Amino acid sequence: MPYWSIYCLYCSGYIADALLECLPAGKKANSAFVDLCNARPGAALACPYCNGLIGFDNNGKPQIPQKAWPVFRYGLAELEAKKLADGELAQTSLADWALQHRFTKPGTHEPLKNYTYAEQAPPDEIVP
Ligand SMILES: [Zn+2]
Repeated sequence: MPYWSIYCLYCSGYIADALLECLPAGKKANSAFVDLCNARPGAALACPYCNGLIGFDNNGKPQIPQKAWPVFRYGLAELEAKKLADGELAQTSLADWALQHRFTKPGTHEPLKNYTYAEQAPPDEIVP
């Protein structure tokens, strides 16, 4: 899986590995998923720290996404599986795991504290 590292536009949290494998399978079938993987315009990722929607410009730099781009959010089930794969206990909260292992450089927001997971959002959500 191609991957990129960025600072969130809104909260300055550092996304060292976007964990795109933790997006729900149904969303990976969306053609915009390829754009997101390649840091191209056309898709928006909900920041794991602040929930803000991050898109990319033609140079692969983070930008405010355009209206109607599909929104991608991490799946609760996929993140739980990744947490266990990282060797954490089932009772460890996703927020603690993320801060410890995955999203370790928050800006203004700690990771996965008030996150809207894919399961909690409309499946065909787009940038408003
Ligand atoms: Zn953010």
